[in-house]
Amino acid sequence: MGNRARNDINYSYNALIWVNEKRDRKMGFESIIGQDHVVKQLKRSIVSGEANHALLFLGQESVGKRMTAIAYAKALNCLDENSRKEGDFCDNCRSCQLISLMQHPDVRLLTPETTGDKTVISIDAIRAKSGEAPPHPLPLREDVALKPLEGRTKVYIIDPANRPGLQEEAGNALLLTLEEPPKNVVIILISSRPNYVLPTLVSRCHPIKFNLIRTDKILTKVMEESEDEVEAKIISSIANGKLGFALDMAKNPHLLALRKELTNEIFRLTPVETGAAITLGAITRDIASRVELYERENESADRKVRRNLPIVFDMILSIWRDLLVLKEEGSNKHILNIDLTDEMEELARKYSTEKIYAAMDAVNRTKRYIERNSNIDLTLENMWSDIL
Ligand SMILES: [Zn+2]
Repeated sequence: MGNRARNDINYSYNALIWVNEKRDRKMGFESIIGQDHVVKQLKRSIVSGEANHALLFLGQESVGKRMTAIAYAKALNCLDENSRKEGDFCDNCRSCQLISLMQHPDVRLLTPETTGDKTVISIDAIRAKSGEAPPHPLPLREDVALKPLEGRTKVYIIDPANRPGLQEEAGNALLLTLEEPPKNVVIILISSRPNYVLPTLVSRCHPIKFNLIRTDKILTKVMEESEDEVEAKIISSIANGKLGFALDMAKNPHLLALRKELTNEIFRLTPVETGAAITLGAITRDIASRVELYERENESADRKVRRNLPIVFDMILSIWRDLLVLKEEGSNKHILNIDLTDEMEELARKYSTEKIYAAMDAVNRTKRYIERNSNIDLTLENMWSDIL
């Protein structure tokens, strides 16, 4: 397994392991927060014995898609009678534990690996080359034909199921299997970028949509882990509906320090300091370059900034969302950046509601431009001119 893939697994498990370390942890599907409609659907499919063989989990990053896919794999294979009757899992039996460790022979997670300058799910992981002996582990297409080794259902989780991680060739190789998956097989495709999933894949899967998680639910979860209420509120706000990110942030205090640095500069330079757009653009870039969350090997400086900018955008958005609350409610009772109340009240006086909406639009627009490889410096400068 490449380092990239290993890192991917590590970061997604951080939240899981961290939750598991704590006493009184919730069992089974109860541990999935804020996706009740998804859990209900999945449990029902198990109880009725009518599991969908090809699923597409859609929704933003860090809302629990991969965690839920792994939970579903557990439920499909759990050995505990009582849990099985409920369509749930015990998280305790041999099968559940092997899946937690990603060592169950019938559950596989396919993630991109880096070779040269490409980071993709290799075509070799999907199908064997004709005329050649298939590699080990067997490619998905050959592997699905074999009976489960230990469990009841073989589960394949493909994350991400969109470009650039899953290219057209590998995606197409999946099609046949998705059309007629063998009986004891469930294939789960995961994507936070639905526009980049091959339409032919989408049409063959049952879609399941994940929501952003409500801030109060995130707060409850973070509060279970953190002693500091102020910090927990800030984290929940910046997380912007993404629980996985909130838990990562609670474990990485440098993110809160970066957020403090960023907000200080924002309050110093907004609304109308001359040249502020250029300065704030450079600061935004600098902050993104110092986020150390999911490490990648051999990554260029620009690529790292591009990958981390969404986190910084969420920090900025949370400020403007609070400004809006201050405007609309005329009180600071419901703001989330509670350590910045004074500064925000001052800033709220200088901005009209219209201008605050426009600023939020500008940040959301910039998010999309950066995703589409626009020039980083120019795009950030433009964003700040629009905000100021
Ligand atoms: Zn179990």
